[in-house]
Amino acid sequence: MAEHESLEFGKADFVLLDNVSLEEFMANLKLRFEKGRIYTYIGEVVVSVNPYRAMNIYGRDTIEQYKGRELYERPPHLFAIADAAYKAMKRRNKDTCIVISGESGAGKTEASKYIMQYIAAITNPSQRAEVERVKNMLLKSNCVLEAFGNAKTNRNDNSSRFGKYMDINFDFKGDPIGGHINNYLLEKSRVIFQQEGERSFHSFYQVSEGLTTDMKKLFLFCYADFKAVTDAMKVIGFTTEEIQTVYKILATILHLGNLKFGSDGDVTLIENSKLVSVLGDLLSTKDENVEKALLYRTVATGRDVIDKQHTHQEASYGRDALAKAIYERLFCWIVGRINDIIEVKNYDARVHGKNTVIGVLDIYGFEIFQNNSFEQFCINYCNEKLQQLFIQLVLKQEQEEYEREGIPWKHIDYFNNQIIVDLVEQQHKGIFAVLDEACMNVGKVTDEMFLQALNGKLAKHAHYTSRKLSPTDKNLEFDRDFRIRHYAGNVAYSVVGFIDKNKDTLFQDFKRLLYNSSNPVLKAMWPEGKLSITEVTKRPLTAATLFKNSMISLVENLARKEPYYVRCIKPNDVKSPLLFEHERCKHQVEYLGLLENVRVRRAGFANRQLYPRFLQRYKMISEFTWPNHDLPSDKEAVKRLLQGCGFEHDVAYGKTKVFIRTPRTIFSLEEQRAEMV
Ligand code: ADP
Ligand code: MG
Repeated sequence: MAEHESLEFGKADFVLLDNVSLEEFMANLKLRFEKGRIYTYIGEVVVSVNPYRAMNIYGRDTIEQYKGRELYERPPHLFAIADAAYKAMKRRNKDTCIVISGESGAGKTEASKYIMQYIAAITNPSQRAEVERVKNMLLKSNCVLEAFGNAKTNRNDNSSRFGKYMDINFDFKGDPIGGHINNYLLEKSRVIFQQEGERSFHSFYQVSEGLTTDMKKLFLFCYADFKAVTDAMKVIGFTTEEIQTVYKILATILHLGNLKFGSDGDVTLIENSKLVSVLGDLLSTKDENVEKALLYRTVATGRDVIDKQHTHQEASYGRDALAKAIYERLFCWIVGRINDIIEVKNYDARVHGKNTVIGVLDIYGFEIFQNNSFEQFCINYCNEKLQQLFIQLVLKQEQEEYEREGIPWKHIDYFNNQIIVDLVEQQHKGIFAVLDEACMNVGKVTDEMFLQALNGKLAKHAHYTSRKLSPTDKNLEFDRDFRIRHYAGNVAYSVVGFIDKNKDTLFQDFKRLLYNSSNPVLKAMWPEGKLSITEVTKRPLTAATLFKNSMISLVENLARKEPYYVRCIKPNDVKSPLLFEHERCKHQVEYLGLLENVRVRRAGFANRQLYPRFLQRYKMISEFTWPNHDLPSDKEAVKRLLQGCGFEHDVAYGKTKVFIRTPRTIFSLEEQRAEMV
């Protein structure tokens, strides 16, 4: 029960609802949103509703109010969760993580920034220069990653188009000494194609070098942002040469977008051939090499190596693949460079003391679009994995606490989505495996053939269907769609593009071209270009396999940490600070599993408090404890107090904490307290 909040603002913790029903949940969420209370707890989970307006709740004074306090002592806030994670890390020596989820535009990235700012604000009281430097870099890295990884979409003007997990390392004093960033699945297709009303990555609008004035106009060159990003890169430690290369790569991609192919009889040619020399300059390589890589590919036929001319279509495909690949590689390289610089080097326990971490995960939420493709499939699989982790950890954590405190606990069941995780990732039978197998086939494999293979393998699976399997389902197109029953709802995916996106082919000729650049920064990004055609033997891993592996290792990493959750909700689609679209919010509450979360929380004990803390708060309501008690322990005193109030039946006494089963008891205690103070 959070302090300083009257019921006029609704209940600060959903666990305190009289009845756990969707109606009551929604009514409370709406009331709080309308009263400007954007945060509400479910136990230790923060539910957040995007206010779409500046809130005066992140300043220095607010930070001071949350610093070192217990969760329930203050109104719900991100800072309380950040503080809880920090305390667990510092006092109990635990690695912790904060998992932020929700759909695009729900406020995840803003939340992750407030959390980082809070941690930066409460650490390093002695103002050590080295720690200040690290903090500054961690905060600056956000600015750079946003420039290269975010874009304006129809859902969010500053939408992150990649998943981000950031570890912050702390020394024995609890001060940040470094960090590490992992990035997941950048939406690189945005480089060559944007939906109506959307834009490419911010970085493209910030480029200056290498562009003609016409192009600058075309791409709304934005000097202020460009300067901020360049400055941030400098602060982080990128060299001038590196920064120049970054902007040359952006210019390269813009020019590639204008490159047109034509044909003259059997010959494929570049229509605007002037661009070739511009590209040659930008990539620090000979013009003829650029031209050759764009128009031919080297193939090994038996012992011979020949240059095979692209068809018009192949050339366009190659150009687009190149644009996407160099952007993705650039992004990963930037993350890698930031890591080189912020990582804790030569970790020395004698100097730094223990090294514990807080991880912050800001990753794409569940997506259901009009047309769902490979990207949505990956993203939704990611959310299944995180939901599975949530199930395991929430239960595990509850159970462990009860065990630790010596309290008997009855296991409760709820839908376990492991079956859907398996449907996607299982070896041999899972959808990714079927896709990879289709991509391995020599000869032309079509997306339809992949769908047929799925239908063959998964016909009996309870969470999979398609038009062939349910012929009456008019919402699914034959030869095109399959549907997954996700934990969060049904999603129909179109198989169009699955094969291509999974193979993610980039002709080796391009890799060689970039590797042979005389620009050392560019060259270093393409080490595999070193191999000649006859040396390339291994197939690169498919996009699905890479993603699956990265998700498995992410989840393993999170599972080793003590988790804290922020669940973000987007109140409307028009970015309005006033509008609470009921159906839209309800849908999110459902698929985030928030009601289940409340039930699990309540099936155990709604509230738990350390004995001394409990006494401090309620001792005035009992003659046995006010103003002080003479019982042998605080535990005995709490027992006496609760017996006196007639709550014996509703509580359990652990080793260090009292556990209170129903929220009514807390209410009643709060009411009695209010009468006394
Ligand atoms: P997500 O990362 O979930 O896609 P963002 O964090 O980028 O969403 O938030 C989208 C937009 O919503 C932000 O650009 C900002 O305008 C607004 N917003 C989100 N959280 C807050 C907040 N706590 N206070 C004020 N505005 C917010
Ligand atoms: Mg975001």
